[in-house]
Amino acid sequence: MKKLKLKKGAKIILIIIVVIVILILGTCFGIKKYNEYKYKQTNEYKLTVVGYTLDESKKIINKLNDENELYFVNNPKNEYIIKLLDETYFMEKNLSEYLDYIEENNSNSLQDVVAIVNVHANKDWYDEKTVKSTDLSKEEKILVNKFNYLDKSYVPKDIVNIDLSYAYSDNSATKITNDAYINMAVAAKKEGIQLLVNSSYRDCESQQEAYDDYYYSGGTEYADKYAARPGYSEHQTGLALDIFTYNSTTSNFDKTDAFNWLVNNSYKYGFILRYPKDKEYLTGYNYESWHYRYVGVETATKVHELGITYDEYYAFFME
Ligand SMILES: [Zn+2]
Repeated sequence: MKKLKLKKGAKIILIIIVVIVILILGTCFGIKKYNEYKYKQTNEYKLTVVGYTLDESKKIINKLNDENELYFVNNPKNEYIIKLLDETYFMEKNLSEYLDYIEENNSNSLQDVVAIVNVHANKDWYDEKTVKSTDLSKEEKILVNKFNYLDKSYVPKDIVNIDLSYAYSDNSATKITNDAYINMAVAAKKEGIQLLVNSSYRDCESQQEAYDDYYYSGGTEYADKYAARPGYSEHQTGLALDIFTYNSTTSNFDKTDAFNWLVNNSYKYGFILRYPKDKEYLTGYNYESWHYRYVGVETATKVHELGITYDEYYAFFME
């Protein structure tokens, strides 16, 4: 009788254990299925279905906002997006413009595409819908180019004359620019280099006259090629200097020792070469080996080290 009782107890315990095990397994299976179901709802999974690898899908998720993620979930695999995301100066706000630009101009490198769109050079110069009054609060770092203008009435504070030891007559600049320039010119002179400014601050009126001269001899396209429109010239900021040396002209200045010296030293005094060679498609200006812009030592050093135009620097770091 006792033996039978034990057996019956053991049986019940066995049944309970089996039930528990079934419950646990069932629950685990259910959780697993549920998690699988949940995972399939994620964009990470959906992107792999579109054709991205898991790593690529994770990159899209990490780098883009929800709305842009969805775009890639709902469209065929884009062969450029992963490389675009790796571009140093990629800016998410420009994503759709990058993709449009690639579609229309697929011979450009992605690095160029990013640079072109960031500085708006995918638009026509002076494009009415793109131009805007520049942000004056940036002070010596303000951007003036073919999309960012100064109001015609803008006159910089603290305009001072540049000492005739280092400039032709009638040259002036903001005090901060002048002080930095004199320091630079003195340092250059110690190394046997004579710097001479031959054009500097220009008010809107004189820029208008310069532009009109070109306009009346060759029309808008011609004038735009050689002069900035009034309000769009860096010379109106009082922060830009056209620097030459003895016996140099626009066509030979970049072959002089003075130019070489400026390439290697101007950033230490806060100046950058504003319109470098082969960057016309970004700056909107032909190469000008003589045109230097004061932006302050810290910014000039960064621009120099990164080897990018000021338009690119401003778009990425300042705007
Ligand atoms: Zn200039």
